[in-house]
Amino acid sequence: MYGKNNSLSSLLGDFKISEMTMRYSRFIPKFYNLVKSLGFQAGKIMPSRAFCSDESQGYPIILIAKHFGSFPFNHGRVGGIVATDRHAPYSHHGKDLVIIQASHVGYDPDSESFGLYRRLQTEDTCETPNCGKITGALEWYINEYKFASQNILITKIEGKIKVIIDNRLLDKNRDQGLFLNLDKIIQVDALGKIAPEYSKSTAKIFPVASELIENIDPQNITNNQVIAIDKNLKPELFFFKRVISMDSEGRDHLERNMINVMPYIVTSEWPALSAAQATSQIEFDRTFRTIIEEPSYKNKKIFFISGLNIDISPRKGQLFPLTKFIPWAAYIQDEMGGYQIWEQAEIFDKLDEQSIENPDQVDLETAIEIMENAEEITLPF
Ligand SMILES: [Zn+2]
Repeated sequence: MYGKNNSLSSLLGDFKISEMTMRYSRFIPKFYNLVKSLGFQAGKIMPSRAFCSDESQGYPIILIAKHFGSFPFNHGRVGGIVATDRHAPYSHHGKDLVIIQASHVGYDPDSESFGLYRRLQTEDTCETPNCGKITGALEWYINEYKFASQNILITKIEGKIKVIIDNRLLDKNRDQGLFLNLDKIIQVDALGKIAPEYSKSTAKIFPVASELIENIDPQNITNNQVIAIDKNLKPELFFFKRVISMDSEGRDHLERNMINVMPYIVTSEWPALSAAQATSQIEFDRTFRTIIEEPSYKNKKIFFISGLNIDISPRKGQLFPLTKFIPWAAYIQDEMGGYQIWEQAEIFDKLDEQSIENPDQVDLETAIEIMENAEEITLPF
């Protein structure tokens, strides 16, 4: 329910994007060769994916099936949350285990924007939000931020800069909403207290904290002019509280994951991208701990990788998205119980040095043809 702790803020900044991106058609064969180089046995590897239910995730799944020779086990909930209660059943489905977790975000190359994806099967092939679950969860937070950024005002009274704050934002007794770190916005008085200089009908006027107006030149504001704080409402100046279910892997798991970093998400250039990225990062940290504790994973080889799927909106004539993958981290476990974590640069380099050739890959068309021509089995009823 509470989101005052911004300690996760540096996490978002540590995720490198541009230099770490690879096409799925390169990622999956290289990944297959990587796990084989670690002793995972061809033909005995059971892949698993923790992806969103969105059909845009189908192309990566087809590539996993093609290169690993098996349709992947479904380990995912909507938004790319890992269903950790499926660890035990999954563990019985293969000798060597490979789990790929990815949250996702759409990208429209024409408008160069994140968060949208063309749905070719709609009547007018329109674009809709992607990931829809994440975008839907963000809406409330973005609206709260918009209200605050337009209802915290900077003004000049008798030559001195002041800040005007809407009473709703000053109400500490709300159950939920955007809450301000007032000591970073308002100049405290000699006794260390925050007190308004004037009260208006719906807002109060305070002396402004010097750090708030670092980016504002007082010469550019004339006496009694009023301007909205707008983008100068930086993430360190506020936090969110929201009444949500705290059940793990429940209805609000996505929001629960993100609430601490939400100020950074709503102020980022592409909130849908930042939110998907944060989801993958937080799910990796949460999930690898559940893998370590899972009794049925003991004495198993496991490779768990987290990353971000970027679904490039398909253009006319394209059946699938041109999905790209950005790895974040990996957990690798051997049969003796030893394990290691690979950070982003390391996992990218290890993938990069693998061959893209995979002699074990399945020709899916041929495989389907073989099944079509196989002798009929009659069921016993
Ligand atoms: Zn989704």
